[in-house]
Amino acid sequence: MALVKCPECGKEVSSQLKKCNNCGYKLKQMDKKKIKKIAIVGGILTIFLIIGSVIGVNISKKNQEKIDKEYHD
Ligand SMILES: [Zn+2]
Repeated sequence: MALVKCPECGKEVSSQLKKCNNCGYKLKQMDKKKIKKIAIVGGILTIFLIIGSVIGVNISKKNQEKIDKEYHD
């Protein structure tokens, strides 16, 4: 457990805490590793969303073509 200096009151508080236990200042919890992880997960989710919407559009297009054919026959 590391101690960090609170930027608000200057008291040394545990880096595990979300808030300074002296003044209640919100300490920055996001370390670079976490940010990177979140960015990767976010990127993967975005890719899935794009793929999903592309597949969805193709399926609905095919269905529309089928419906159109059935109407014309
Ligand atoms: Zn403080």
